[in-house]
Amino acid sequence: MELALSATNHLFNARNAPRYVAQVLQGVTAVATKLERTTQPFTGVGPAEMKRRVGAVDLDRPLPDTAAALEELEDVYLRDAVYFHDPRYAAHLNCPVVIPALVGETVLSAVNSSMDTWDQSAGATMIERRLVEWAAERLQLGSAADGVFTSGGSQSNFQALLIARNHAVAALRQDPDAAGLRLPALLDRLRIFTSEDSHFSIRKSASMLGLGFDAVVPVRCGTDHRMDPAALAGALAEARTAGLVPMAVVATAGTTDFGAVDPLPETAALARAYGAWFHVDAAYGGGLIVSGRYRHFLAGVGLADSVTVDFHKTFFQPVSSSALLVSDGAMLRHVTYYADYLNPEAAALAEIPNQVDKSIQTTRRFDALKLWLTLRTMGADAIGALFDEAIDLASRVGALLAADADFELAAEPQLSTLVFRYRPVLDDGTRLSEDGADALNPAIRAAVFASGDAVVAGTKVGGRHFLKFTLLNAEATLEDIDQIIGLLRRTGAALLNGQEAAA
Ligand SMILES: *Cc1c(COP(=O)(O)O)cnc(C)c1O
Repeated sequence: MELALSATNHLFNARNAPRYVAQVLQGVTAVATKLERTTQPFTGVGPAEMKRRVGAVDLDRPLPDTAAALEELEDVYLRDAVYFHDPRYAAHLNCPVVIPALVGETVLSAVNSSMDTWDQSAGATMIERRLVEWAAERLQLGSAADGVFTSGGSQSNFQALLIARNHAVAALRQDPDAAGLRLPALLDRLRIFTSEDSHFSIRKSASMLGLGFDAVVPVRCGTDHRMDPAALAGALAEARTAGLVPMAVVATAGTTDFGAVDPLPETAALARAYGAWFHVDAAYGGGLIVSGRYRHFLAGVGLADSVTVDFHKTFFQPVSSSALLVSDGAMLRHVTYYADYLNPEAAALAEIPNQVDKSIQTTRRFDALKLWLTLRTMGADAIGALFDEAIDLASRVGALLAADADFELAAEPQLSTLVFRYRPVLDDGTRLSEDGADALNPAIRAAVFASGDAVVAGTKVGGRHFLKFTLLNAEATLEDIDQIIGLLRRTGAALLNGQEAAA
């Protein structure tokens, strides 16, 4: 009986408002204290140790209060988390987050609106719609544009390709020869064209859409890692000759490794010429729409039929926050399903704004609120300035690496990433072999991660292992990154010496 009574003390309601404030403050204070005391991005803890610590918790025996649970959390999470705000975190597309968005996160999770229907969201729906309009306008998608917030770039890309697939199938059905065919026969002819450097979620989407991984035709890039329009034209022509249907051309605005922005006007024109859907994956480069200095990199994005933008990358929002924008809002009907209990067709006819009509999710977080409070508090220009700083830093780090005899830069930086490898000149005056560098660079990355002093990423270029910096921290300085470079050099040299000693 006593337990039943105390359980209601945990409910978010008017009676418990003081408890809510006190406990959330305890949580926020624990994080703030952590921030102030954390001096490196990671502790280097390994999975076995973490598994042991988390496994030792008895989930059937709750602790007395929030303070005790937060104290325990220090051991099982906070002390050993990977901290993206640290200037020596330079690995993936994780951004340091902005405080107005964290205020938004607190509000949205407490009120807990769900975006599927008007009767679960009210003003939240209007705020999301307003932000969709705002983003579509910045992307110059035209007056019929619409869109919806999603959980991330992968989901945005999936939804874009789902629309493109259904659009292509509807067109095929117009052909009397194809009208009688069952869906799998139609899908078998569809192809998606995207650069060899595009995000893996394009291939994964093709597979989930019943097309198979091999429905994606990889298009060659130039030495600048941008899709080569001549190669795209050739691939499209070849497919048509083979009786295949170009369902979509996907250009990337900011590839994950090189930050390359594909030539948007040229690829858009080719997509149009072949009647293919033109999708722009701007998961990374989307932040350029608020950039003061580099907005022109996105020139031509307004030609897209659909665009993916990840606010949780270059808008400095906490995960998750992304959107899919389409130039013709009516195309979102491809994910509409009317359920009698939730969003009956009568509601649509009565123009009740049910966002589930546009989304592949049902219950959905009010992630838009974070961006709303960010724009209302900081303003778009300030967000853009944060991204511009990161782009400028990458360019300076690029110059540093290019001038450094111990490192090889794979390509000039385009947005805020750098792909490079440690490949020093050895005592005998020769450069470390390609195979040697291939073995060494992943080992450097692992050793640095285990030290916790810095976190860098790894990738492969032409089958060879490289290291990667992804810079998104406007407070990181050239000196900070130079320190990481020094650490990579010392680690690499020590590993090489160790190999010699062992040989
Ligand atoms: C990060 C990224 C994605 C995937 O986005 P998620 O939010 O991680 O799902 C897609 N495309 C590109 C180019 C990306 O950089």
